[in-house]
Amino acid sequence: MTPLHVLTATALRRKIQSGEITAEQAARAALERIREADPEVRAFLTIFEKEAIAQAKSVDAKIKEGQSCGLLAGVPVAVKDNLAIQGQTTTCASKSLENFVAPYDAHVVERLKAEDAVIVGKTNLDEFAMGSSCEHSAFHPTLNPRDTTRIPGGSSGGSAAAVAAEMVPLALGSDTGGSVRQPAALCGVMGLKPTYGRVSRYGLVAFGSSLDQVGVFARTAEDSALGLAAIGGWDRRDSTSVDRPIGGLMPLEAGVAGLRIGVPKEYFAVDLDADVEAAVRATIAKLAALGVEVQEVSLPHTEYANATYQIIATAEASSNLARYDGVIYSARKEGENLSDLFARSRGYGLGTEVKRRIELGTYVLSAGYYDAYYLKASKVRRLIQKDFDQVFEKVDAVVCPTSPITAFRIGERLEDPLKMYACDVLTVSANLAGIPGISVPCGRDAAGLPVGLQILGPGFGEPELLRLAAAVEQT
Ligand code: GLN
Repeated sequence: MTPLHVLTATALRRKIQSGEITAEQAARAALERIREADPEVRAFLTIFEKEAIAQAKSVDAKIKEGQSCGLLAGVPVAVKDNLAIQGQTTTCASKSLENFVAPYDAHVVERLKAEDAVIVGKTNLDEFAMGSSCEHSAFHPTLNPRDTTRIPGGSSGGSAAAVAAEMVPLALGSDTGGSVRQPAALCGVMGLKPTYGRVSRYGLVAFGSSLDQVGVFARTAEDSALGLAAIGGWDRRDSTSVDRPIGGLMPLEAGVAGLRIGVPKEYFAVDLDADVEAAVRATIAKLAALGVEVQEVSLPHTEYANATYQIIATAEASSNLARYDGVIYSARKEGENLSDLFARSRGYGLGTEVKRRIELGTYVLSAGYYDAYYLKASKVRRLIQKDFDQVFEKVDAVVCPTSPITAFRIGERLEDPLKMYACDVLTVSANLAGIPGISVPCGRDAAGLPVGLQILGPGFGEPELLRLAAAVEQT
C-alpha cells in the first residue's frame, strides 16, 4: 500500500470521506513523516502534535455521524509562521515576536478550520518574509529537501520544503514579491499566488500591504485548485478583498487546446541559467504540441520592475513595521527613562535584513526624496500594470521562468543583498500588477535541481492558470 504521507490532498480527502482511512491515520502519517524528515530539513518552527490528532479525531467523529465535511476533510496542512493561529505563537521568524501568541485566527486559518483541515504546524520563513533563501530566519535556516546543501528559496521556504519532502500535501505561504512561487520553483513543487484581493490578508502579518497575498503550495494542479477554493473569497475585514465567486474546484479537465500564451522576450533577456531557459522552452514546445497557441510578446517595462518593487515594498514595510517597537509585542528591555527604554527595545529583536529594509523604506518616503523615489516608483508601477493589460488583450496567459537560477548553496548570496534581490527579477512584476501567478515544476538542471515554469494571468484568471499548470504536470 502507498504510504499515506505521499498521497495528494485530493486523494486523502476522498479516502477519508469514503471511510477507507481515517483522518487520524492521515494526521499520524504526516506527523511521523515530519519526525523522520524535519530534523534535517527544518521546515517547521512549531509542530502541533496534540492539536492535530484532536482535530483529526473530530473530523472522524463528524464522518461517523454522517455529517457533511469540508473541502479539506482530514487533510494535513502547514501554515507559514506569519499567519495568525489563535493561541499559538506567530513569530514571523523574528526574535522580536518570539513569544507573541496570536489572539485570533487569520481569515485563511478560519477557512482551513471551517473546511476541516488538520493544521500540523507552522513553517519557517525569512524574518518578516523578507528574503529569498530562508537564511534570514532568526531561528535557523531551512534546507532544500532535494539537496540539503542548498537553500529552499524564500521567503516561504519552510512551507515549500514541507510539501516537497512529503511532510504535508498542502501548505500556505505569502507572496509579496515571489515568496510562494520562487521557493516552489527551487523545491520542485507548485506554488500559486492568487490575484490581489482573491484571498483575505486579515491575520497575515503585513509586509507590503499593496503587494501581499496568501498563496498555496501543493504537488499537483488539482491540489492547488483545492487549496485556493478552500481559502479564497471575500472577507469584510480586508477592505481590498474582492467579492467574486471562486468557481468551486475549477474544471481542470477542460484542457488547454485553443488557449493562447505569450512568451515575454524581456523575461529571457535577464541573466538566466542556460538549463533553466532550456527546460522552460522545452515545456513551452510541449504545450504547443497540445494545441496551445504560442506567440512572443513584449512587457517593455520589465527592466524597471525589481527597482520599483524594492522601493514600494520597503516603503510599505517601513510603515507596517513601525508597530514593532519592541515594547507592545515582545519582552521589552528596561531603560533609565522612557526614551532609553524605547531605544533599547526597538533595535533588539530585528535582524540586519529587516533593519536594512526599514531604513531603505524610510529613506524613499522621506520629505526630500519622496518624489524622486516613492512617487516615481508608483508611476512606473502603473506602466508595468499597463504592459500586462495590453498583453492580456492578445493572450490568456504569459509563460516564463519563475527564477533565473536553480537552488543555490547555503551562504552563497547571504553577504550580497543585491545578489539576493536579483533572485526576484521574474516574480515581482505580478505583485506590482496584482495579477495571479503559479510556478510549476518543468524539469531539472544538469545537477538534477528542479526548474520552475511561471504562468501569469490576468486578474482572476486562476482557472486558466490552473488548467495550464495541469497540462504542464501531465507533460
Ligand atoms: N524575496 C522577495 C523579498 O525579499 C519577496 C519576499 C516576499 O514575497 N515576501 O522581498
